[in-house]
Amino acid sequence: MFNVLTIPAFDDNYIWLIKDSQSQRCIVVDPGDATPVLEIINSKQLVIEAILLTHHHNDHIGGVDELLSHHPDIKVFCKKALFKDAVLVDEGDELHLFDDRLTLNVWQVAGHTLDHIVYFNDQMLFCGDTLFSAGCGRVFEGTHQQMFDALSRLASLPSETKVYCAHEYTQNNLIFALHVDPNNQALLAYIKQVSKLRQQGLPTIPTTIQCEKEINPFLRTFDSALTNQLQNLLAKPITRGLQCFEALRIYKDNF
Ligand SMILES: [Zn+2]
Repeated sequence: MFNVLTIPAFDDNYIWLIKDSQSQRCIVVDPGDATPVLEIINSKQLVIEAILLTHHHNDHIGGVDELLSHHPDIKVFCKKALFKDAVLVDEGDELHLFDDRLTLNVWQVAGHTLDHIVYFNDQMLFCGDTLFSAGCGRVFEGTHQQMFDALSRLASLPSETKVYCAHEYTQNNLIFALHVDPNNQALLAYIKQVSKLRQQGLPTIPTTIQCEKEINPFLRTFDSALTNQLQNLLAKPITRGLQCFEALRIYKDNF
């Protein structure tokens, strides 16, 4: 069994720590900053066995060098050779962690960046800046088609999969989601739920694949009510699917 702990970093990043419940070993995902990670490692007397990186942006990798300087035995996994001795992983690879008790699969999901990968099994998904609750990452290096394909693929994971995104952007994303999907009852209920959590200072992450399929406009590009609303807002014809996704992403970039 494993527990996933939330380590807030910077203004709105989440670093995820997968703790083995049978030992003091753990795995850290996207440590953009070493300080909050070292605090929790030292206070709970944990040993970092591996670091999983989703992509090369500094707010995801900025703490790696310092963590390695304290703990040189940590194995770093990533797609591009970002660090000396990093273990390069890519589409279709399987990671066997904690003496093979935890298996995580790797998919390549270009779009936000070209080196973006996600780690998942049927319980958890670490998706970096690809999928956010009620939103998705900006398309910086890849194409809209690549990002659309990546999100469609993530949406095909089992509905109860917990989604560990790398940012607390939910409340802000919901303003846009409501604008383009105003009659979505699940979305209206989710807005209330998120607002309660945030009032108490609690994270809205992890979310689930099921929840995102119901409320996230970027996973609902085949929905006719959403597509019609977008057509009205943009005053131009929009086809469901990829074209709807592209129009949504560009619209939100300037929202
Ligand atoms: Zn990023």
